[in-house]
Amino acid sequence: MECFPKPIAKLIEEFSKLPGVGKKTAQRLAFYVLNMEKEEALSLANAIVNAKRDIKYCSICGNLTDRDPCVICSNKKRDETLICVVEDPKDIVAMERTKEFKGLYHVLHGSISPMEGIGPEDIRIRELLVRIKNSPVKEIILATNPTIEGEATAMYISKLIKPMGIKTTRIAHGIPVGGDLEYADEVTLSKALEGRREI
Ligand SMILES: [Zn+2]
Repeated sequence: MECFPKPIAKLIEEFSKLPGVGKKTAQRLAFYVLNMEKEEALSLANAIVNAKRDIKYCSICGNLTDRDPCVICSNKKRDETLICVVEDPKDIVAMERTKEFKGLYHVLHGSISPMEGIGPEDIRIRELLVRIKNSPVKEIILATNPTIEGEATAMYISKLIKPMGIKTTRIAHGIPVGGDLEYADEVTLSKALEGRREI
């Protein structure tokens, strides 16, 4: 264990908590920050503080936002008869990149995973059902990840929604099985959206 002064050790420790950052990288980042101009370093620290303070979940769709409802939910030009259900706010960013989807979103904040003890009541399915009852939605596009959990979640939701007389579709082609929506490129994702099928 290297003997860094406490504040540096703390900075390294915090950086090493970030995803994909090992000990070496954490040290490199810490020393980079120490070499930064004071204003630059403060600006970085403030950006973290402000984002944590100002970013909340949209009360309608569950997306990350600094205003409630979010820009998508409050955009009157979006098609409110179409709701695309995704697992994570990052998936909305991916879908928006395609520039093809003009409907609204619903973020589940996870997927059903019995292995991890995550049941239907632990993700925002109830909120989705309430939303459907109170809106003119005609079609639900299930764009959960093409993983075992994502598929199971899509099937579960589709079974709940179908009796309500609403069309449920699942994005299909192009997304590799076991893949993550977040990492799909625009073309693959827009093909998947085009090729959605009723389930
Ligand atoms: Zn929203």
